[in-house]
Parts: sequence; C-alpha cells; structure tokens
Amino acid sequence: MGKKLGQHFLRNKEILQRIVNSAEIGPQDKVVEIGAGMGDLTELLIKTTKEVIAIELDPFLFKILEERFVQRENLKLVNQDALKFPFEEIGTFKVVANIPYYITKPIIFRLIEARNLISMTLTIQKEVAQRLVAKPGSKAYSTLSIIAQYYTIPEIKFYIPPKFFSPPPKVESAVIKMDRRNAPLVELEDERLFFKIVKASFGQRRKMISNSLKSIINQPKEFLLKIGIDPMKRAEEFKIEDFAYITNELCKFCK
Ligand code: SAH
Repeated sequence: MGKKLGQHFLRNKEILQRIVNSAEIGPQDKVVEIGAGMGDLTELLIKTTKEVIAIELDPFLFKILEERFVQRENLKLVNQDALKFPFEEIGTFKVVANIPYYITKPIIFRLIEARNLISMTLTIQKEVAQRLVAKPGSKAYSTLSIIAQYYTIPEIKFYIPPKFFSPPPKVESAVIKMDRRNAPLVELEDERLFFKIVKASFGQRRKMISNSLKSIINQPKEFLLKIGIDPMKRAEEFKIEDFAYITNELCKFCK
C-alpha cells in the first residue's frame, strides 16, 4: 500500500457515526464517498441512504471492497481517481468522505464546480478546515476562505485527533460540512475579475490593498478613495462584500 495515496483509516464506530450524523443524510439521498478505503464508513452510508457511490483508486483496496460488499444493491463501487469522476452525470448528490489529504483542495474545487452537489461533509486537515471557515481579521482568512464562502456555507462540526486513525496522520483533523448556497453570497458583475482581485490582494497580504491591486487597476489609490474604500487597509481586513463592491465598481469602467 502506497503511503502517497494518503491512506489513514478511520475505524472507530462512534466517530464514523458522528460523521454520518453531521452529514444530515437520509433514505432519500444519493451519497458519493471519495476514498472508501476498507469500507467502514461505506457500511454506515449504505445503511443510512438510498444509494451510495464509493470511489476508491487503489486496486488492492478496491478488491477488498468488492469482496466485503457482494450483493449490496444500493452500492456502486468505482475504481477510479475521484478527480476524474463525472460528478455532473449523477443527478443531485451529497458527499460524505474521509478524503485523502494530498488532494483536499482539488477535490473541494472539483465539487464546488459540480452544480448538482447539495452538500459535502469531509474529514480534512484541521488547518485547511479553519481556513475554509475563516472570517476577516484572522490569520487563516485567505483566498480559500472566500472561494468556499462565496459558493457554500462551511461549518466545522468537530475535530478528530491523529490517534483515531491508523496509521495516525501527522496533522489534526476536522469534520467540515459545506452546504451549497442556492445563490452566491454576493452579486457580481464579473466573477473572474472578483477572484483576480481577491487573489492579487491575498498574494501580498501584508501590503496595503492599493499596492496589491497595482497589477489590475490603474491608479488604485485614487480609484479606491473615490469609491469610499480605505486604500491603506490590508486584504485580511476586507469582507467578501467589500471585494464584491470593489469588483462591481471597477466593472462600471471596464464596459
Ligand atoms: N474512508 C476510508 C479511507 C480514508 S484514507 C476510512 O475512513 O477509513 C483515503 C482513501 O482515499 C484511501 O483508501 C486511498 O487509497 C484513497 N485515495 C487516494 N487517492 C485517491 C483518489 N485520487 N481517488 C479516489 N480515492 C483515492
């Protein structure tokens, strides 16, 4: 078994049940599990929901799963890289998974992209979870916080210490639930420009915003003053609504 596949198994029944409870899933739901491992969480999911699709990349583990779950009608096992799975083709779904940590961000981005996702309940690194829920003024507040909170409502449910995994990972873990928003948090004239502004701002998070935005805006200081934004503030002091306001004001000139 390759260490590189992020294999840390969670076999404690109480914790697995807490994850399932946090996910708020029931008999009407279709659930996708990413990185099913040996199938302990899978077992609980098929008891709780209508249909489970369990994705596992490792052929050795996939064989274990096939043997463990013969004749389970509401389970589909898929031996594939989860990043290549066609999520758009399965109708509305929820994700519940103890995912491989080396692809935490790509998986979250991939799932956000799938408009038919209802919610994801993921076991991930505590540090990443804290960035996903971070609010202005905190060190953890970053581009990742803004992407997550623009598309979803993220909430940390509980933490899991390394000792509950085998083998234990080097980092603390957290269970986070992210509900897709029906409508994005803020209205944007130009989503791409918004994320460009956010990235440039946090790319130099210790600098004044007027400096960070030099690559995007002509005379940023004058522009920000004109629209009533303090050009001396730094990225981490701005709410998502503030970045949206800057974007939309700038759009008035780019059309
Ligand atoms: N859910 C299980 C296993 C978690 S460990 C449990 O809680 O015990 C993460 C699992 O993801 C491993 O089984 C690993 O083989 C699998 N995995 C790693 N990379 C993957 C990928 N790209 N796509 C799907 N599964 C992957």
